[in-house]
Amino acid sequence: MKASNLSKSRFTLSGIIKNRSLPKVLFLYLLIVIALLMLSLAQIWTSQAFKKSSIESNKIREEYIGNQKARVMQQVIGVRDYIYYIRSHTKTKMRNKLQERVNEGYNIAMNIYLENKGKHSDEEIKAIIIQALSPIWFNNNRCCYYIYSMDGIQQMNPLASNYNGKSRLGFLDKDGNDHVGNELRLLKKKNDGFVDYRTTSKHSDDLSLSKIAFVKKFDPFNWYIGTTDNVPDFESDIKHETLERISHIRYGKEGYVFVNTYDGYALITNGVLKDPPINILSGKDENWKKIFAVELEAAHKPEGDFYTYKFRKLSAPKNSAKASYFAGVPEWEWILGAGIYIDDIEPVIAQKKADFDRQIRLNIFKVFGLMVFMMLIIVLVARYISKRTKESLNHLTQFFNTAKTEYEAIDPKLLYFDEFQAIAASADSMVAERQKVKIDLETEKSLLRCLIDSVPDLIFFKDKDGKFLGCNKAFEEYTGRKEAEFKGRTDYDFFTKEQADKYAKSDAEILQTKKTQRTFEWIAYPDGRKVLLDTVKKLFFDTKGNSLGLIGISRDITEIEETQNNLTLAKEKAEESDKLKTAFLANMSHEIRTPMNAIIGFSDLLTDDDLTRSEKLDYSVHIKKAGESLMNLISDIIDIAKIEAGQLQINHAACDLDELLNELVGTYSEVISKSGKDDLKIRLLKQVGVNGLVIMTDPFRLKQVLSNLVGNATKFTEHGHIEFGYLMKDAETIEFIVHDTGMGIALTKQKDIFQRFSQVDNSNTRKYGGTGLGLAISKHIVEIMGGKIWLESEPDKGSSFCFTLPFISANTGEIAENHIEKVITDHDWQGKTILVAEDVPSNFMFIEAALRRTKVRLLWAQDGRQAVSMALQDMSIDLVLMDIQLPELDGYQATAEILKIRKDLPVISQTAFALSGEKEKSLQAGCVDYIPKPIKSENLIIIISKHLF
Ligand code: ADP
Repeated sequence: MKASNLSKSRFTLSGIIKNRSLPKVLFLYLLIVIALLMLSLAQIWTSQAFKKSSIESNKIREEYIGNQKARVMQQVIGVRDYIYYIRSHTKTKMRNKLQERVNEGYNIAMNIYLENKGKHSDEEIKAIIIQALSPIWFNNNRCCYYIYSMDGIQQMNPLASNYNGKSRLGFLDKDGNDHVGNELRLLKKKNDGFVDYRTTSKHSDDLSLSKIAFVKKFDPFNWYIGTTDNVPDFESDIKHETLERISHIRYGKEGYVFVNTYDGYALITNGVLKDPPINILSGKDENWKKIFAVELEAAHKPEGDFYTYKFRKLSAPKNSAKASYFAGVPEWEWILGAGIYIDDIEPVIAQKKADFDRQIRLNIFKVFGLMVFMMLIIVLVARYISKRTKESLNHLTQFFNTAKTEYEAIDPKLLYFDEFQAIAASADSMVAERQKVKIDLETEKSLLRCLIDSVPDLIFFKDKDGKFLGCNKAFEEYTGRKEAEFKGRTDYDFFTKEQADKYAKSDAEILQTKKTQRTFEWIAYPDGRKVLLDTVKKLFFDTKGNSLGLIGISRDITEIEETQNNLTLAKEKAEESDKLKTAFLANMSHEIRTPMNAIIGFSDLLTDDDLTRSEKLDYSVHIKKAGESLMNLISDIIDIAKIEAGQLQINHAACDLDELLNELVGTYSEVISKSGKDDLKIRLLKQVGVNGLVIMTDPFRLKQVLSNLVGNATKFTEHGHIEFGYLMKDAETIEFIVHDTGMGIALTKQKDIFQRFSQVDNSNTRKYGGTGLGLAISKHIVEIMGGKIWLESEPDKGSSFCFTLPFISANTGEIAENHIEKVITDHDWQGKTILVAEDVPSNFMFIEAALRRTKVRLLWAQDGRQAVSMALQDMSIDLVLMDIQLPELDGYQATAEILKIRKDLPVISQTAFALSGEKEKSLQAGCVDYIPKPIKSENLIIIISKHLF
């Protein structure tokens, strides 16, 4: 139903107009325009045709009247010319007629003569001739033959028969001429001829008549035959004859030529010769009289004239309008006239107009037919153009529809008009160009998208209403949502109202001020991660500079912030460390100089020969203590260096804790008593039920930590007591405590004292010596052994240093072995030879002194090369004591050279390098053992004895 309505509406006018299809509208409007054009043309042409018809009627009328007038004028002029012609030839005609008549008479006479000659006598013949010719009259019986003999004797003359037989010579005419004498004179010269003369008229003596005679010799009787006529009478005949002719002239429907005389006689009227003529002037017809007056006036004009009046027709007695032309013939005093009846024209014109109108109607019909045919052609052409246009437009539309998504070149052959082909070519190149631009744009877009997504910064774009237009991957990750979820939504859809308000306010400011804004803000990711964002927001514009919205770029500067914080911290630490190092150097100077002072001072005193043995011993003890103090300091420094280098190693062994604590109590009781602190007591803490523990740990390092803590307690406590011991914290942890009632440590300092070089009192005026390394080393050792260290302290009340260690129970047998090793000190190495490779003489001398009681033979090589050659040459050498740092060849190289030849020769390395794993290196080089410097004589003997036998 709907479809049918639609299709119906398509073919209605409103449907087509609403449809607005170019071909249809083109077709429809073309049709309307053509129809209107043709109607207009027809209307114009018809009105023009009828106007033309009216003009034509007038023209016809004028032309007709003109023609008729010309015709009547021509008739009149023709008649007048004819009259003039007749008149000018009157005499000639007269002569010809006279000559013709005389010749006839002559012929008659000659025939008679010839017929009668010989039959009759001349006289008889003459009488016959006279008898034959004398009754002949002609020219209205005015004329006859006369015969004269050549001597002037009248033979015959019917007009004057009384003169027959008499001479006519000497009869004179009006001018005094001898008429017959003149004829004879002429005939003496030639056979015939004319003779003019004048005589009086028969009718009037007053009038002298001009006369013409023709004479011809008639030789048989010496006669001449002649005749004569007077000119006026001949002329009168001619006029009558002329009127007779004129009266028969007819032209047109009722046209005739009329003739009046100047004196008012109508010679021909209504086409009829009037004889006698009608006297107009004496008649009753006043109208005619009036007309005559005008006629006369016109006749006196040389060119004649027209005059319109009313006169009766030939066919009807009724007067009709008539236009006549009048011309005069003055010689004859005639008025010639001819006219046309004007009312005769109207039917003619009406007929002509009817013919013309019929012709017009026929033409209109033909033109309409032609127009309809043309319209049909135009409609067909328009339909063709419309159809082709529609097809072309359909192709173009299809092309443009396809071009929205893909590029496919349009085939110009499918389009019918050059214009469409030109449009197609332009559109083709435009779409191709657009396609290229699109591809470029897509490439750039993809590149840009890739760039935006590759950027770790959060990027988002909003329109001016704060609605998101898009974002990058980093932003998606931050918000935990996809870009599609953002598009068209605002901050209020994703953030708390407080946050969204803040963002909206900042966006509004940017839009208003057009200034870029930068903010720093901590935000939390959905996974709980917190990051510091450095956000820049600014407007973005279209090509004309109109702002389209704003773009925001947020950079995660958490790491930078942390790095900066760390740097600040590091800087502060470095500055602190610098301060500590300065203090450390000052301490160090003090800590080194103090024992060095004792060593140098007492060594100096020992050179005095006056010293007693007891004094020497005392001095030596001081020197030894100072040396040990110095050695401890160096050990601490080396430990710190090892800690920093990550080389501090733990060597686990069984450790009897009670034994260790008792040893420390002994050591530090002695220290306290030597320091003169009488009010200070030192004792062990005992946990009830816990004793005799042997654990697996690094005994050396545990002792180092406890010594340090107890040593500090001893150092910083003036009176009261020092308690230390251990307790089982739980089944797996053992806790050590060193408590004192000393000066204590302020809370603010407590966290720092485990730092290297840190001391509560860093000033030069401090009361207690020390390097500030002990607690740092202790902390590291405890932690490396799997425990932790802390303190509780109150200034002036005392301190408790605690640390834990994992509890690993150990076998007590291992301890006994070590113990035994230490106690064997009596050695006799007589007969044995030891090669000592040592470049420093004092060191060799020490070794020599230390081993003197063993009675061993010592050989001394002062560089590596010498050591090698001696070891290889002297096969009595049982052992090599190899210093590592040697000239020429170092200890490792020399050892390697020696062992190449003497594989079984034990080499023991001795080195002052404490840091870089000298023991391991020595063992790797083939040494059987390792002795660190400074060498203690007991240790030296123990180690050598292990390998000498
Ligand atoms: P040193 O004792 O060589 O100066 P330490 O690292 O062992 O170095 O100690 C650092 C500092 O901690 C000491 O200088 C001291 O000020 C403080 N200290 C350590 N133990 C105690 C203690 N038991 N009582 C008071 N102060 C202490």
